[in-house]
Amino acid sequence: MPKMPDKKYRIPEAKRVHNKPKNWLKNQEHSNIYHSTRWRKLRDWYMMNNPVCIIPGCSRAAKFLDHKDPIGDGGAIWDTNNLQGLCSSCNGRKTAKQKSYTKKI
Ligand SMILES: [Zn+2]
Repeated sequence: MPKMPDKKYRIPEAKRVHNKPKNWLKNQEHSNIYHSTRWRKLRDWYMMNNPVCIIPGCSRAAKFLDHKDPIGDGGAIWDTNNLQGLCSSCNGRKTAKQKSYTKKI
């Protein structure tokens, strides 16, 4: 039976919370969608059929399945016409643009 480490070797509670990945979706409901089996299946299917980043001039492998119209703004969640595959670089650029746009409002 393994013994619990001495108290001094345990990670402090505050550090444990800090090490958790940041929740990039403020809306818990949207966060649940991205963790659902339905979403994972849709993403796998979409990525298999659209393996390349959709941005013109970019030919990198798509890693993110993105909503063209953000679901936070009422974009259709499951409609494949509202989906696009993006590489990490293009996804980062789009997210940054959306954030700066949201801040200006
Ligand atoms: Zn790209």
